[in-house]
Amino acid sequence: MIPAHRLSRRRPLIGRRALAIAVTATVAGFSPTAQAEDRAPAAQATIPDAAALKRLAARLVPAELSVDLSRLPASEQAALLDILRAARLMDGLFMRQVWAGNDTLLVALAGDTTPLGRERLHALLQNKGPWLRLDGDRPFLYGVGAKPAAGTFYPADATKEDLQAWMQGLPAEARAGARGFFTVVRREPGGAFTVVPYSVAYQPELSQAAALLREAAAKTTQPSLRKYLQTRAASFLSNDYYPSDAAWMQLDASIEPTLGPYEVYEDGWFSAKAAFEGFVTLRDDAETARLARFARDLQALEDQLPIAPALRNPHLGALAPIRVVNSIFGAGDANRGVQTAAFNLPNDEKIEREMGTKRVMLKNVQEAKFLLVLLPIARVALARGQRQDVSFDAFFMHILMHELMHGLGPHEVTENDTAPSEVAKGAAAKPRPRRTVREALQETYGTIEEAKADVGGLWALATLMDRGVVDRKLERALYATFLASAFRSIRFGLNEAHGRAVALQLNTFLDAGAVTVGADGTFAAEPAKMKEAVRALTAELMTVQAAGDHSAAAALVRSRAVIRPAVKTVLDRLARVPVDIEPRFTTAEKLLAQPAR
Ligand code: ZN
Repeated sequence: MIPAHRLSRRRPLIGRRALAIAVTATVAGFSPTAQAEDRAPAAQATIPDAAALKRLAARLVPAELSVDLSRLPASEQAALLDILRAARLMDGLFMRQVWAGNDTLLVALAGDTTPLGRERLHALLQNKGPWLRLDGDRPFLYGVGAKPAAGTFYPADATKEDLQAWMQGLPAEARAGARGFFTVVRREPGGAFTVVPYSVAYQPELSQAAALLREAAAKTTQPSLRKYLQTRAASFLSNDYYPSDAAWMQLDASIEPTLGPYEVYEDGWFSAKAAFEGFVTLRDDAETARLARFARDLQALEDQLPIAPALRNPHLGALAPIRVVNSIFGAGDANRGVQTAAFNLPNDEKIEREMGTKRVMLKNVQEAKFLLVLLPIARVALARGQRQDVSFDAFFMHILMHELMHGLGPHEVTENDTAPSEVAKGAAAKPRPRRTVREALQETYGTIEEAKADVGGLWALATLMDRGVVDRKLERALYATFLASAFRSIRFGLNEAHGRAVALQLNTFLDAGAVTVGADGTFAAEPAKMKEAVRALTAELMTVQAAGDHSAAAALVRSRAVIRPAVKTVLDRLARVPVDIEPRFTTAEKLLAQPAR
């Protein structure tokens, strides 16, 4: 577990510059085994040997994810294989986005057959870079420096402040391009910043992926799948992702692929740049139908949010599809460190306004996590009387509501240019150009948004219980399962938005007396107090978002997204329980082993 003081978020300016230079230097002269002279002996002492790396890797317990394809017609099986081949390309793209040295390192380690070399290659593939994602991004190799805070999305020698100043000086349209999801910032030969679209920056792999998706499109007989594959292939080449994001929203097929640049977690500076990933999944029709009924309650939930009525959205996007799927394959950002259990996409606010977002629940991934990680945690962390309350149904429902809650609450900052006193004198309020919550909250956005979705999910389920939509019997299970799951998430590390978000919630509940610590150090949820504590935190987070209040968000993260002693005691007791799963995509491996035609 990482102590809070190792959070690298408020690194002084000079440190950032030094870090960027160190990274540039190691890309050219990298050697995975050489001991870099420039590092202090103390830092070298933390570089793990083969046995230590093996122990660290074992925190992700192998889980076979196989999916029954027997009911898939031959046309769809053939299309699936092309989609898998395209998805595989996302791994290399993602690794290059994380660090410029990854390509060279991968080749070097692939040729190293020593036990240490094998463990290092395994660690590299688990972490998608030479830094341990579960340990505050501590390096496991000499000479690689610190993990670049914003990947390779910006020039290695630039600072966040340089880029901010440059972006603010750009005309509106150029600024939108510089801040866009699908561009990188580079330097021109003269040193000035310039914007390069992904279609140019990652051209070779994207054109290969586009060709494979077009082949798949020619094979499938499902029209909406064909349309997504064709439009996504076109997006890879044109850099316009709007048509294929729209086609993805309308996808209604047995194969449910999600392929391309999506999440912004790797951009630790602006949460602006999308990382490449690939989810290839098969839809679970029975579960999808069971959960679709929740989508009908979303507007009613929005209308009841515990915030000022003016901040509620009277017209949520009409379309809020939910898909329950089983994962066949994950690549790139979709297969690094801790595995995604569910996602809610696209992140593009324009699509979100027009069409809503789609939630995809990865059921076989969640079952593996529940059995291999959550139940063992509950046996250690929870008070004896609450252990038997932990249930897969509560776990699954809360993850679902977490995803739905990403779509609710404020997404744009409520503000105008005219002072309230002037408005009172009769001046018309002049609205400012729209600013998203993501833009306003910058590096705190991920933590606040994840905490909102999590605690908001508890609030929503309690509200649905009050209305009789969800069985009240779920209440005990819900809070006990949430608590066990909180320890699960904090173990992902405070260098990661989800881990910080959960620490923030847990500390809030401890302060409110809604979670208590027994004499034996185990934790218990107090259902009578949880309900109000959940409502209050949901209100607090959404109000900060609506105001776009970056300093309030930063203060919240600083004071509550920390590990307190009672939590640390439990985390230490969990040392032997796996942190998460490492999927073995056995069905995909079998298909991909077939010779290419
Ligand atoms: Zn989330």
